Amino acid sequence: MHNIFKSLLEILLPRYCKVCGSRLSVGEQHLCITCMLSMPLLKKYKEGMTKPEELLITVRTLQRAEAMLSYDKESNYRKILYHLKYYGHPEVAEYLSKMAAVNIGKSGFFDGVDLIIPVPLSRRKLKKRGYNQCSYIAKGISEVTGIEYAEDVVVRSVTNKQQAGKGKLQRWSNADGIFHVVNPEMLENRHILVVDDVMTTGSTLVSMLSAIEKTVPSVRQSVFTLALAD
Ligand SMILES: [Zn+2]
Repeated sequence: MHNIFKSLLEILLPRYCKVCGSRLSVGEQHLCITCMLSMPLLKKYKEGMTKPEELLITVRTLQRAEAMLSYDKESNYRKILYHLKYYGHPEVAEYLSKMAAVNIGKSGFFDGVDLIIPVPLSRRKLKKRGYNQCSYIAKGISEVTGIEYAEDVVVRSVTNKQQAGKGKLQRWSNADGIFHVVNPEMLENRHILVVDDVMTTGSTLVSMLSAIEKTVPSVRQSVFTLALAD
């Protein structure tokens, strides 16, 4: 009975793969099986360092960094990010993060992590979008690992767009002003995992992690992003 109901729903409300756009069958969620199996997963460690770790090398307190997917701007997999940011489907982020957490967790990536912190949106952007997609990543990882997450520790005062209006040098020199730690006592002597949806140059994460370690020098920080984009 249950399956008949599901099949009927498929006919009435067809769902589509978030990558290739083909129709999903009953057992598939968000991605079709073909796109699921050919996911461009981040390659394993290169000379002992991941690409995300290389991009965050200036962060003194960095422990380790990983991304689930790695793709360029031609790739259809970039559409996943549009879905969770602009098309109102943040549940995709939770779904993929759970999957990533199971995989990455096998190598001990989450060992010793005390708290998960999503990269915050500015208050204005949060109001406009209605949700922070990074909170769904935190939630997905938290469900798999049992590590708690907190959204009220770091706030963001300026959007990237406002920052983009400035010159490159100015942007870097102003980087410290974007993120503020509002509950530093929650981070003292703890190993935190900062999670973001996509990393390109790493500058947003460097700003955030630098602000955190400046305010709480005893912190240890690791990073997980859903995607690393060229
Ligand atoms: Zn597909």
